[in-house]
Amino acid sequence: MNHYQLDTQCIHAGYEPKNGEPRVLPIAQSTTFKYDSSKEMGDLFDLKGDGFFYTRLGNPTLDAVERKIAALEGGVGAMVTSSGQAANLMAVTNICHAGDHMVCSSAIYGGTFNLFNKTTRELGIDVTFVSPSCTQEELQAAFRENTRCVFAETLSNPTLVVTDLELFAKEAHAHGVPLIVDNTFPTPMNCRPFEFGVDIVTHSTTKYMDGHAVQTGGVIVDSGNFNWNNGKYPMLTEPDESYHGIVYTEHFGKAAYIAKARCHLMRDFGAQAAPMNAWLLNLGLETLALRMERHCFNAQKVAEWLEKDERISWVNYPGLKSNPYYELGQKYMPHGSCGVVSFGVKGGREAATRFMDGLKLASVVTHVADLRTCVLHPASTTHRQLTEKQLEESGVPADLIRLSVGIENIEDILADIDQALAKAQG
Ligand code: PLP
Repeated sequence: MNHYQLDTQCIHAGYEPKNGEPRVLPIAQSTTFKYDSSKEMGDLFDLKGDGFFYTRLGNPTLDAVERKIAALEGGVGAMVTSSGQAANLMAVTNICHAGDHMVCSSAIYGGTFNLFNKTTRELGIDVTFVSPSCTQEELQAAFRENTRCVFAETLSNPTLVVTDLELFAKEAHAHGVPLIVDNTFPTPMNCRPFEFGVDIVTHSTTKYMDGHAVQTGGVIVDSGNFNWNNGKYPMLTEPDESYHGIVYTEHFGKAAYIAKARCHLMRDFGAQAAPMNAWLLNLGLETLALRMERHCFNAQKVAEWLEKDERISWVNYPGLKSNPYYELGQKYMPHGSCGVVSFGVKGGREAATRFMDGLKLASVVTHVADLRTCVLHPASTTHRQLTEKQLEESGVPADLIRLSVGIENIEDILADIDQALAKAQG
């Protein structure tokens, strides 16, 4: 299956029905799986055989979607989770314990910023935030002896900063740690981070991967490329007494990281995806390639249109030649980045509010990457926990409007923006 092009894999990877089996991926809406003897089930607990025994640890529908996403990203394995937040929490805590430290780009989604600035700090994992456009020397200076991973977003939400993946990967590897990247916005259709040295990829599948806003979900994908045998990751290279003394790197080889995420963290945290949600996600993934193409086409048109409009104070979209991240965007996402465009309306916060209230086709929702055009004011919603200083550090000015351009007809989207801008003038 993996020899097919990515758009074909969106449809076919992960599930290959045998003779007489359902053509469409079935929902295994069952918590448990029956065996003829307790020995057979015991062998599964001992990881001596393949099979499912309890949906928290694995389920045929989840497994098919995991195989599809692993194929799309080019990884050795994946684990779906109940949300993007759960994916990022587990991606880091799988290899960072109390007393460890991580380096993190400051240009990340507000919820992830809080997760690493508050919750994982409270668990004893320290963090140093670095500017995504820092120099190599500044990045080097952020590492400590106890640093265990680097985290960034390929294309940040909502600031649309393109991370220099090769630079971040190079520095992470020079310090013996993996680079974890949240690839939610570009999706593997527009960027495959493993090709640039990234070791672990995460997604909020709630966004483009689903695309229809019908489920919350997340996923962690393991490239299988990082060498954990450097003395820094005893949780992977030494016996796990809570799992029959298993040594993940010995038992699972290249898939050690993702196997531990499942056997250890999913077992204990229980943030698994529901079979129904995984099934809905799979339906979304089948059209991902087509949708991303249209999102990017429409967003490019909107960004160019806004840039020419005198009622707009600034426009941020990596596909604009005037954008500071244009070159990096072309390097990492040559076929398009995503459907999100951010901009400021002249007249500040009040004009921005009038603009949002004036939209008819686009809806004001706390969501992004939906096939319906939608709009959000991050400073008063997703980023409202952040102080003015943190907002500034995250590159989210108070007048920033995040427009998630959908896949409707471009003429209708532009007409809607035009009439709402007229209302914004007061
Ligand atoms: N990562 C990114 C880039 C996001 O945009 C979001 C949510 O907006 C998340 C992670 C968190 O995902 P979820 O809302 O599915 O928990």
